[in-house]
Amino acid sequence: MASGSNYFDDMADDVGLAEPTKGEAMMDVCELGGDIAQHQPKPNISVVSSVRELLECPVCLNAMYPPIHQCSNGHTLCSGCKPRVHNRCPTCRHELGNIRCLALEKVAASLELPCKYQGYGCLGIYPYYCKMKHESQCSFRPYNCPYAGSECTAVGDIPYLVTHLKDDHKVDMHNGSTFNHRYVKSNPQEVENATWMLTVFSCFGQYFCLHFEAFQMGMAPVYIAFLRFMGDDSEAKNYSYSLEVGANGRKMIWQGVPRSIRDSHKKVRDSYDGLVIQRNMALFLSGGDRKELKVRVTGRIWKEQ
Ligand SMILES: [Zn+2]
Ligand SMILES: [Zn+2]
Ligand SMILES: [Zn+2]
Ligand SMILES: [Zn+2]
Repeated sequence: MASGSNYFDDMADDVGLAEPTKGEAMMDVCELGGDIAQHQPKPNISVVSSVRELLECPVCLNAMYPPIHQCSNGHTLCSGCKPRVHNRCPTCRHELGNIRCLALEKVAASLELPCKYQGYGCLGIYPYYCKMKHESQCSFRPYNCPYAGSECTAVGDIPYLVTHLKDDHKVDMHNGSTFNHRYVKSNPQEVENATWMLTVFSCFGQYFCLHFEAFQMGMAPVYIAFLRFMGDDSEAKNYSYSLEVGANGRKMIWQGVPRSIRDSHKKVRDSYDGLVIQRNMALFLSGGDRKELKVRVTGRIWKEQ
């Protein structure tokens, strides 16, 4: 890459590297962690993409962050890869030494790039060193598939996942904010491969996942029912729900706040944030000869004022 030094000269002119305080000012904004998006820089697009290429580690191909290392010939390397190349530059095989590439670090600081979830609707433009932090919390970042019990790798926005649950997982879809579900399992002794059921409810213009499942707690199988909100936690808090299971004059009631599907299904389950039913109670509520699990869960979702 013989043209490396030319890139630097171009950059200095185009993105105002000569202005010493600019980088710091941007870093300060970043520290505040706010959504600072949407000021309008007018960078030369080809320069920006050249610099982005320069900031790609030649070994792991990830974006480099300080400290960025370089060999005496100017080849760069990320700090994660440096310890793994046994002090040899992976590009020219010369001794690597301990030289930091401050120029490239500064150029990176002056770079502003769109959020990588632009395609999902995020209009944010962020200083290079703030971009990753923003992306880890970007409200447009896609959701994981909420289906439990499989290692489904589907990701996407909510409309995509609703279609995916319906078409690929054959999940039951219901309209309305009240429900009345019967869960039947013929051999409740077996919970090794824990059973789980998912129903999706559509109400208030939103989608909710009702989970019902058995899992092993110590030696005993336990059943849990809980609701998750298909959206971010900040919105999930606007809703409440109740679940009820009963028979033979007994009744258990749970009232809760749906958890965002950003929280994994397992995380919600392991925190018992739902209606938890011990097996003995579940069998008692099933009536009959305790050979079959047969519980009816009724519930309601409402919007808090
Ligand atoms: Zn690397
Ligand atoms: Zn080298
Ligand atoms: Zn974003
Ligand atoms: Zn899926």
